[in-house]
Formats: sequence, structure tokens, C-alpha cells
Amino acid sequence: MKKIALNGNEYFVGKIVCVGRNYVEHAKELGNDAPNYPILFLKPPSALIFNGENIEYPPFTKNMHHEVELVLLIGEDLKNATLEEAEKGIAGYAVGLDMTARDLQNEYRKEGNPWTVSKCFDTSAALSEFVSAADNRNILENEIELQINDIVRQRDKLSLMIFSPVQLVSFISSRMKLEAGDLIYTGTPKGVSAVQVGDKLSAKIGDLCSLTVGVV
Ligand code: MG
Repeated sequence: MKKIALNGNEYFVGKIVCVGRNYVEHAKELGNDAPNYPILFLKPPSALIFNGENIEYPPFTKNMHHEVELVLLIGEDLKNATLEEAEKGIAGYAVGLDMTARDLQNEYRKEGNPWTVSKCFDTSAALSEFVSAADNRNILENEIELQINDIVRQRDKLSLMIFSPVQLVSFISSRMKLEAGDLIYTGTPKGVSAVQVGDKLSAKIGDLCSLTVGVV
């Protein structure tokens, strides 16, 4: 099992809930309207890698995309959480990468099938260290950024999110129980594009957290 340490606590990573199309400009760049409710999918904990590790380019895709995202760590069990309970239930913030086999995702979407395989492959969820949510209540005032080989490819204000972290946690907990150690990838801003073997991906949120991974 994968473990996360924060504020002297140790969390075993549970499910990873991911949010799709949570920024208007990103929804548009993939040809979608902004959603009326959070679009959710899951990644398995086995997909996780941490700072300094490598993304392994899967042999079954020819178009692997980067999606840089704010990631939430759930600190306590939540079911039908109010906004206030949801805020209290978020233990930490990190920056992560939701790697996506875009060609497969488009194919599955066209066929009306689940896009699971395009999102769940090994090493498809990269994650930085967490910072305490209690110490960073103004997290949405920060910018999120991804550089590839030292060139900025994604950079936007977190405040452009359609559904805020608190709204997401409250909504998700009304559809499935959230447990301590669950992670939530909150969606990517505009600027997604393909990565290549040999690339170096460096992601950060303000000066709070950062992540560097290679592609092999
Ligand atoms: Mg994503």
C-alpha cells in the first residue's frame, strides 16, 4: 500500500477520485461544454508515483497527455458532507499529474464506453508532497504550473476552477463515501498536450509544492 505523511499523521492511499472538465477553457479545448455537475472517474492507487520517479510510456497509446492538477488529501471519513464538513475534511494539498492516453479516451468516448483504460495505467498519477490545508486556506489564490523541459506548458490561476475543492468534496461524498487517505485530482486547466519519452515534467503550485518526473 502507498503511504502519505502529513503533519505527523500517516495515511494509506485509498481510492483516487478524479474530476473532469473543471476549467472552462480546458473543457473547450477538448471540444466540450462546461459541465453542470462534477464529472468523476477513478484511478487505482497502483497508478501512483512520487517526486523523482518516472512515468512509463504505455505501449498501447500513441498520444499520452499531461494534465497538471491540484490534489486534495482527505483526512477523515465523509458521507453527505456539508460545505463546512468538507472544508474540515480536506487535510492537505499537493500538485499532481493526471496522465491520459488521449487517443484511447477519445475512442472510448466516441463508442460510449468507459474511458477507464485511458486513465488507470501504471504511473498515470504523479504526486508531490502534501502541505497542510489548515495552513493554506487561501490555496486558490495560487497559480498552478507545468513546465516540460523547462518550457511552461500549463499555467493558470486555481481560482478559475468551476467547482471549488470544498464543493467537490461535498458533492463526491454525496455520491460515494470518502475515507481518510483518499485523494481527489481536481481537474486540469487549459494547455494539455502530448509528452514524449525523455521529457522532464516539473509541476508546482505557487511556492507551496513541486514535483519533477521523467518519461521513460
Ligand atoms: Mg484530469
